[in-house]
Amino acid sequence: MPSSDQILRTFDPELWGAIDAERERQENHVELIASGNYPSPRVSAAQGALLTDQHAGGYPGKRDRGGCDFIDVAERLAVDRCRQLFRAEYANVQPHSGSQANQAVHLALLNPGDTILGMSLAHGGCPTRSEPVGRPGKIHHEVAYGLDADEVIDYAQVEALAHRHRPRLIVAGASAYWLRIDFKRFRRIADAVGALLMVDMTHHAGLVAAGLYPSPVGVADVVVGSTDKTLRGPAGGFILAREAWGHALDSTVFPSVRGSPMAPMIAAKAVAFREAMSPAFRAYQERVIDNAATLARVLTERGLRIVSGRTECHMMLVDLRAIGVTGDEAEAVLGRVHVSVDKNAIPNDPRQPAATSGLRLGSPAVTTRGFGPAEIEQIGHVIADVLGAPRDDAVVARSASAVTALCARFPVHGQPMVPPARHSRPTLVVAR
Ligand SMILES: *Cc1c(COP(=O)(O)O)cnc(C)c1O
Repeated sequence: MPSSDQILRTFDPELWGAIDAERERQENHVELIASGNYPSPRVSAAQGALLTDQHAGGYPGKRDRGGCDFIDVAERLAVDRCRQLFRAEYANVQPHSGSQANQAVHLALLNPGDTILGMSLAHGGCPTRSEPVGRPGKIHHEVAYGLDADEVIDYAQVEALAHRHRPRLIVAGASAYWLRIDFKRFRRIADAVGALLMVDMTHHAGLVAAGLYPSPVGVADVVVGSTDKTLRGPAGGFILAREAWGHALDSTVFPSVRGSPMAPMIAAKAVAFREAMSPAFRAYQERVIDNAATLARVLTERGLRIVSGRTECHMMLVDLRAIGVTGDEAEAVLGRVHVSVDKNAIPNDPRQPAATSGLRLGSPAVTTRGFGPAEIEQIGHVIADVLGAPRDDAVVARSASAVTALCARFPVHGQPMVPPARHSRPTLVVAR
């Protein structure tokens, strides 16, 4: 038996309190943040395993120290499964996050001063991909495309900008885009101007793995992803590419971008890739898309405008201008009823980024938790009720208790909410 100072709860009650409170928050809140998800207990078990003792710089069979035989097994499993899952010639599973994967690609493929053509931040591009806010162009010259009048990616603009600016790299993929992206059209544009094409499928990787969203693999030169969003694995990133780019990418990720590759995270990625090959995972992703469509329908019926009028994946953007509520107000009042969302700019948003006029909503986490059409309908009505009367305390109180009751029926961590004494909870994650 471990002595009591080896048990986190008794050794570090302050930290344990935060973990325990977070567990309770996860149980009591409906997570509609589009990037959010809950990994399986299997993924968490691998991530918490003793592989953490090993600082294995380099790659399987080519480490900078001895004693790496079993770490090598874990990383080879992760790489092989990642390549198989996405049908990629090359995979690197060492980036610690999607943004680090992006940085590695920039470092490997570009020279200072090269031009990048990517999606405008204001129209859904990811802030992590750009250079520091307020210091654009510090390393590369950035040119941005956006959405057209129908709120679809403006491919004609991409083409025109590509011909005018002759970028070295064109980037497709976004943090806030809910329609299918025509990667082949991006490819044709890139070829016409001699540019490389990178796709950032961070958000959509799980749907791509399940064959429910167009795959950029084999179309783009390089693809980057995160393992923790729709893919439902541990926090982390990965890079896929044509074999020809493998050497340049490997030798940039290590040692330029990171030293130790975090073996437990790689082991957990291996588990997540394996899970993603299963029919159950495909069925899960189908429900993710169905749930997003249901939510968009209910909100539309309740008079809220969905940007582009629809969603074709796991997320959507709600335009709040007509109801006179800002994104940050909506985020705050929905927080009071235990619904977690994030404010997001709408295209050509008249408000400042700190306020915004939109809400981004996503279905991956609630679907993992087991919500189906009935629960999604209920949540859609809660959102519409609360946004329709954000200062009505009776509506807020009634909605909050409805959400609490709903959450209690769908435990995140595989057991009914434990009502009484906090100290009676033995472990953070209980097997499902
Ligand atoms: C979330 C996101 C990232 C960053 O991924 P992390 O794993 O959180 O670093 C990069 N690009 C896009 C498009 C994203 O949505």
